[in-house]
Amino acid sequence: MATERYLLKNGSLPDGSKSDVLIADGLIKNRAVNIIDADAMVIDVKGSILLPGLVDLHTHLREPGREDAETVLSGSRSGAKGGFTALSAMANTSPVADNAGVVEQVYRLGQEAGLLDVFPIGAVTKGLEGSALSEIGAMAESIARVRVFSDDGNCVFDPLVMRRALEYIKKFDGVIAQHAQEPRLTVGSQMNEGAVSAILGLKGWPAIAEEAIIARDVLLVDHVKSRLHICHVTTAGGVEIIRWAKARGINVSAEVTPHHLLLTDELARSYNPVFKVNPPLRTEKDVMALREALADGTIDIVATDHAPHSTESKECEWSEASFGMLGLETALSIVQKTMVDSGLMNWAQVADRLSTAPAKIAGYVEQGRNLEIGTRANVMIIDPGASWTVDRDLVASKSRNTPFHGYELPGVITHTFFNGVPTLMNGALVETGDAR
Ligand SMILES: [Zn+2]
Repeated sequence: MATERYLLKNGSLPDGSKSDVLIADGLIKNRAVNIIDADAMVIDVKGSILLPGLVDLHTHLREPGREDAETVLSGSRSGAKGGFTALSAMANTSPVADNAGVVEQVYRLGQEAGLLDVFPIGAVTKGLEGSALSEIGAMAESIARVRVFSDDGNCVFDPLVMRRALEYIKKFDGVIAQHAQEPRLTVGSQMNEGAVSAILGLKGWPAIAEEAIIARDVLLVDHVKSRLHICHVTTAGGVEIIRWAKARGINVSAEVTPHHLLLTDELARSYNPVFKVNPPLRTEKDVMALREALADGTIDIVATDHAPHSTESKECEWSEASFGMLGLETALSIVQKTMVDSGLMNWAQVADRLSTAPAKIAGYVEQGRNLEIGTRANVMIIDPGASWTVDRDLVASKSRNTPFHGYELPGVITHTFFNGVPTLMNGALVETGDAR
């Protein structure tokens, strides 16, 4: 437990009000105008906004199996730099996190890294193969207490398997996070199916391949009265289906990635595989529909789909390259650029979409608490008036595959506190020591 005291002076809360915040004993000790505390380290954060520590529901940490691309520790450092105090480690590791042993291993590695909460996601099916259910109950009862299950990377395409999984998780208020991709409609797909793919001669990935699964699954979850989360929605049509489902009271939540809020399939014209991602970058019309849906709450949260890849699996021909992009360190700046600076959302909504709502969906009770007095001090600070230039050689991730290299982005993250302990101070990572 932290013994340090930190007094954050002159900052703003997400609702725009001015307040000092005192962190002590790992908790938000006080929140008021003009706090005086002789024992605390004073940090002047004038002009900055204090947000609850960000919570990512969709992170690929690559350990075990691809430690050359990322580890739980390097991913945690990348998260701390991006203002995150909780990550959700996707199950498509090697071996797959489809049993209690692997999720406990990932959970322990997260605790050892000690920079944020690492919550493992369990696979829905054994080996992500889509047929036999994984050890869902054993993972739920393990020390990792898994509540979110996903075959992400693969779609749970068999409707009977999906139905059984949705029924099974009702016992402990779990949620199935679906990677919506109809496999028969996307065999060999390389990018969004449309005008650009036709010109480039790359095999297209139709929007309907995503929408068909979203439609099927909202009907399924309504039928069995369970809980469904749709990963990385990318199409205007997908948004319409989710809007329809929510209007009918169907228990579905949805996420959008930062990159799908900004980038379009036009970027594939460069043939630079850094823009190759699953699901693919779509059109301007889709981007605008996603922004609108995030603002009006049809899409509940932003999740990064942080997908580190080694240089050799990204710096090659488009058709050979792996799908995926880094996301943790640029997420909030992309959200500020696309949603806040454009006037679509305020900072209170940002706090909801990137912290409170994801914590609620996944059941992370100590996260997303919005700086209430007495809660664990998971806080991040952003200076929205400052800007920075993304440099792939300066990321904390082990990989370099950011699509935003060279972009000037608004919003500089200066501090992150995890359980009252700084993991990022004045923009620099605080290295873990024996004390942590
Ligand atoms: Zn996915």
